[in-house]
Amino acid sequence: MQSKGTSAALEGGLVRLQRDPDQDASHRSLDRVLISRILGLMRPYRVKRNWLFVVVLLRSLQQPAFVWAVAATINGPIAQHQSTSSIVWAALGVLALSAVMQITLHFRQRLTLEIGEAVVNDLRRAVFTHLQSMPMSFYHKTKVGRIISRINGDCDAVRIGVQDVLFVSMVGLGQMLFTALLMLWFDPVLFAIVFAMAPVLWGLNRLFQSRLTQAYREIQESFSRVTSTLAESVAGIRVTQGFSRSEKNAELFSELVVSHADYNMKATWAWGIFNPLLELNSAAVTAAIIAVGGWRVVSPDSLASIGDLIQFMFLTGLFFTPVQILGTQYNQALAAMAGAERVFGILDQKPQWSDIESAVSLPRLQGRLTVENVTFAYDSGTVVLHDVSFDVSPGQRVALVGPTGSGKSTILSLLARFYLPTHGRILLDGVDTRGVTSESIASQVAMVLQQNYLFTGTVRDNLQIASGIYSAPFTDEQIYAALESMECRDLVEGLPHGLDTKVGGRGSKLSLGQRQLICFARALLANPRVLILDEATSAIDTMTEVRIQRSLQRLLSGRTCFIVAHRLSTIKNVDEVLVIDHGKIVQRGTHEKLVQQPGMYQALVKRYSGMSTIP
Ligand code: ATP
Ligand code: MG
Repeated sequence: MQSKGTSAALEGGLVRLQRDPDQDASHRSLDRVLISRILGLMRPYRVKRNWLFVVVLLRSLQQPAFVWAVAATINGPIAQHQSTSSIVWAALGVLALSAVMQITLHFRQRLTLEIGEAVVNDLRRAVFTHLQSMPMSFYHKTKVGRIISRINGDCDAVRIGVQDVLFVSMVGLGQMLFTALLMLWFDPVLFAIVFAMAPVLWGLNRLFQSRLTQAYREIQESFSRVTSTLAESVAGIRVTQGFSRSEKNAELFSELVVSHADYNMKATWAWGIFNPLLELNSAAVTAAIIAVGGWRVVSPDSLASIGDLIQFMFLTGLFFTPVQILGTQYNQALAAMAGAERVFGILDQKPQWSDIESAVSLPRLQGRLTVENVTFAYDSGTVVLHDVSFDVSPGQRVALVGPTGSGKSTILSLLARFYLPTHGRILLDGVDTRGVTSESIASQVAMVLQQNYLFTGTVRDNLQIASGIYSAPFTDEQIYAALESMECRDLVEGLPHGLDTKVGGRGSKLSLGQRQLICFARALLANPRVLILDEATSAIDTMTEVRIQRSLQRLLSGRTCFIVAHRLSTIKNVDEVLVIDHGKIVQRGTHEKLVQQPGMYQALVKRYSGMSTIP
């Protein structure tokens, strides 16, 4: 038998064939405001930027000058059979000019590289700093992948915009302008022919580029579908075989592979059609110039010399080269616009609230916590908490119990002021937290989370994080005392490098229970007046469980504690239990009292009796 859910999961590969509706746009039209903002990023490096403008001007002049010099040599000394020495001198002049051009190119590349890197570094730093100050609500509604692509891909698009697009395009445009002026000066009629072809070439190029970019993007997307489906199938092979889905899965995979091949074909087709078209177009220009120019040379009035014609052919090549380059640049410029828009979008997003101006700093708390008629809805608008009220006196322990999705973690987030209540108030020692500085809440209200997060770094680094709210770092004595009190000194000392042992991202080198103890030690070091704890549901072996309970009791002692409890052993040790259902407090009292009463609590305990945790 196969459940509906399993079949949906197995067909994930096909479901993903449809485009993610909120996928980021990869291109955006050129926008004056965005461009001037990107230019603004270069302001701190204005000396370098101004030099770059000079270099760009030189580069735009040099190519036409070079072509002119070569043509003038052919047209002058060579065509007129002048002395060998004048030809040698002319050749040397061309060589010297070329050397100057290469030096200029070196500086053009070096300066753009430096400015591009500097700008992207500043931008990444700014985004990162800004992200640190964003409210929890931002992180709840923004996917991690999105945030990472803001810092990686989007900032990089801006870097490419500065490094590759902006200045290279300026050189290209400048080169076209100076070449056009030269052509106009030599032969306005021939120039008119060239000029008329430019829009055709540009149009073809644009069409070609956009088709090709689209095709390559589709190839990339279909390829990532193939790889992710493959990874998923391998990871879920037991489920697949268990449900005899192997054949069906192979069929789905084969469909993906075929569609991938289709996308590849499409790209090759686009290339195969447009490339000859482009070449044909250039050939048409050349033919037109030969026809009109040749006629002018051989005409009875001899309107132009052969040298002029050769020079014109050179100049035509020079005029059209940037058109092709600019076509590619234009695409990258659009990608840079899209990246810049998203990066600036993040930077412009104000923290949902910052401390009000009259915010006060709380004195050392007694630890009274009051929740008055709190109603709360996340951005989605659905009310998650309905008129919740309770009062915790200093040093009292309160546990929240309830089915999944009932709103327990939401209450914790409100207590830590990650969100503000939609209606009602939350008071600490009688002071509405709305008017209190974030810092003084953070220093006295600590939160220990379900995921018990350890950063990549040493055990010591992870414990020192708690010293952020104090002026000085903890001493080793303080650290060891905390570890001892949490019964994990032996554990840390048993690690290969003791306190300086690296624990991987999410603390992967330690077991779940060990991580939890270290997180407890971190909370103990912070020494908060109010402790908020989202207890882990994950099963931990009985030995560790006993140890964790002992440590937990020590961590909780002498503080106001608010716990989302999943372990019966924790619940039995609290002063009051609040039972939450659908965002309302449906029962309250001690464990002993509540198990006697018929109701949700009794049902929960009965259902899970024999287990150490209530899911
Ligand atoms: P669990 O025991 O599974 O941890 P919980 O009691 O902690 O559940 P909450 O996380 O508080 O439940 O969620 C309460 C309700 O609020 C749920 O219906 C959930 O879908 C919704 N909710 C939670 N977080 C958000 C969010 N960031 N945005 C919108 N709705 C949310
Ligand atoms: Mg929760």
